[in-house]
Amino acid sequence: MYTWHPMIYLDWAATAPPLWQVRAEAFQKAEELYANPSSVHGAGRAARDCIERARRSCADSLGAHPRDIYFTSGATESNNIVFSSFFNRPARGSVVITGIEHPSVYEPAKALEKAGFAVRYIQADSDGVVDPERFAAGVDGDTVLAAVMLVNNETGAVQPVAEITRLIRQKSPRASRRVHIHTDAVQAFGKQRISCDEMGVDSLAASGHKIGAPRGGGILFLNRPLDTLYRGGEQESAVRPGTENLEAIYGLGKAVEIWEEHREEWNEHARELKRLLLERISAIDGACLVGPAGGPAQRHSPFIITVSFPPAPGEVIVRVMSDRGFAVSTGSACSSRGKKNLRVLQNMGIDRGIAGSAIRISTGPATAVSDCDAFCTALERETAALRGRLR
Ligand code: PLP
Repeated sequence: MYTWHPMIYLDWAATAPPLWQVRAEAFQKAEELYANPSSVHGAGRAARDCIERARRSCADSLGAHPRDIYFTSGATESNNIVFSSFFNRPARGSVVITGIEHPSVYEPAKALEKAGFAVRYIQADSDGVVDPERFAAGVDGDTVLAAVMLVNNETGAVQPVAEITRLIRQKSPRASRRVHIHTDAVQAFGKQRISCDEMGVDSLAASGHKIGAPRGGGILFLNRPLDTLYRGGEQESAVRPGTENLEAIYGLGKAVEIWEEHREEWNEHARELKRLLLERISAIDGACLVGPAGGPAQRHSPFIITVSFPPAPGEVIVRVMSDRGFAVSTGSACSSRGKKNLRVLQNMGIDRGIAGSAIRISTGPATAVSDCDAFCTALERETAALRGRLR
């Protein structure tokens, strides 16, 4: 299903290698269906049909109606569309998010705070999972927006979104006071069964490139009207106007169909790799597992593991491992170019020294057992050498 890569790639949570079938077909669609999907001639209608097929595939995967699926350029844009729409409201109110959100939720929340909203950041437990009661306690009669991610991108912690939604709805049963509940489902999309309906969320963000689709394709599920900031086009019902990126959208629909078909098999493979990685990494001198990895399976994604080797800085471990031919990261790809951002791990109450030494290992369907074995052998050698140098 996947092409071979010269480096052992263990950074799938940052982006997945393209599924070859999706890439080939997306290129072909770009060539064949070049007409503008808004054009009324036959070529335009063929392009439109292609987009609508992808919309149905994405809706099916999310347990949603196709009319509630809007295509965007990626999850950063989907998250921003939701948060920025609150700037248009005449009245301010309160916003509740977890303190472990991705920057594409956290920073828009900060911007709302600057604009006069009271923003509450709810702390996660030490394993990275947010307590539903604690989150719901942050919601009050003034709350207009609440956001909790489905799977954390740094630790793989699975958040109890459905339970949080249920508790919030119990608190604000009147439709007129209904809190808008948003979830960033990027690290879960395709990989686990999702039902927007069962979760009871009003909006959800997902991204194509994390599951092998081309970059530049994302999803916003939205089942409530929002006065978004965009103006100037009718595409995607004006929620995200602008000529559609047909090949990215086609790829998104195709990739999610493939994940649906292989989900069980690929999850089982990831669980096996995770078992192996946990066993080998726990035996390395100085290794300190971060997040929910050692705990109950339903609390963590099988695709992500975070481990720390204090006092070696996470960036240094990542560079050394890269020199040895392994791609891992320090956490969010958005912060890994510069110094590691410790916000998420510190929110979980993780000691600064441990948080600063953390690396994230993330696998995918093409990761082989031998890749993980080779990685662990090199990691053991390199962290021992680093410890010796840092002494
Ligand atoms: N949310 C989470 C949890 C992510 O992991 C990412 C990507 O790293 C994003 C949002 C941003 O997604 P995109 O790259 O599609 O903008």
